[in-house]
Amino acid sequence: MEMIKRKVLDIIYPGRCPVCDGLVGAFETGGAKLRAGGCIHTECEGKIEYVRGATCMKCGKPLGKGSPDEYCDDCMRTRHLYDRGFSVFLYRSISGSIYRFKYLGRQEYAGFYGLATRKLLGKRLKGLGIEAIIPVPMYRDKERKRGYNQALCYARAVSDELGIPMRDDLIKRVRNTVPMKELDVRGRRNNLKKAFIVHQNDVKFKCILIVDDIYTTGSTIDEITHEFRMAGVSKVYFLTLAIGQTT
Ligand SMILES: [Zn+2]
Ligand SMILES: [Zn+2]
Repeated sequence: MEMIKRKVLDIIYPGRCPVCDGLVGAFETGGAKLRAGGCIHTECEGKIEYVRGATCMKCGKPLGKGSPDEYCDDCMRTRHLYDRGFSVFLYRSISGSIYRFKYLGRQEYAGFYGLATRKLLGKRLKGLGIEAIIPVPMYRDKERKRGYNQALCYARAVSDELGIPMRDDLIKRVRNTVPMKELDVRGRRNNLKKAFIVHQNDVKFKCILIVDDIYTTGSTIDEITHEFRMAGVSKVYFLTLAIGQTT
């Protein structure tokens, strides 16, 4: 039933391909594929690179081919607070898509992102005993201005695909932060200090998954992990849509 409803909606409102942003209709010929939760041109799908092969045991970043290491350079130097991270796409292959998802109102890409996440990582994530999916919160005024929080859109899609509840009411961003691009690693840490508040009494979970769009230094995830650990959560994993590659 759900599928029929979707097909009808696709005819009336064709979806946009997350790679080229072109329209993909249900009856479109020429290599378009219809899938539950999101459409993508077949040729566009071939351009996306997934995180596969050996990855860092901590942050999940792909390691160089034939690398004997278990951790990436960053994780060898930095002690991250979270338990383990997972990402779906290599950032360079999907950066344009994420930009539109984040800044140009293309929330609809979340359907494809959620489906891709389940296909690549569903089994693995379901085996971790995650009780709640927590999107990285956006500062209230910023979210109002943008109209949506892209991390929440993605987290909702993942929650639907995996059948694990999403909770966006447990942590709040109480301080706006300077764009991270403008800061070095130390500056990034300080920038995030006390930027988040967890409603301690509401957290009944032992194992959570924090969800964001892009993994860069991990400082945001570390800060959120710290707050949840203080509230009694013991296992903290993260999932991001995209991650860079070690060179
Ligand atoms: Zn396309
Ligand atoms: Zn790493």
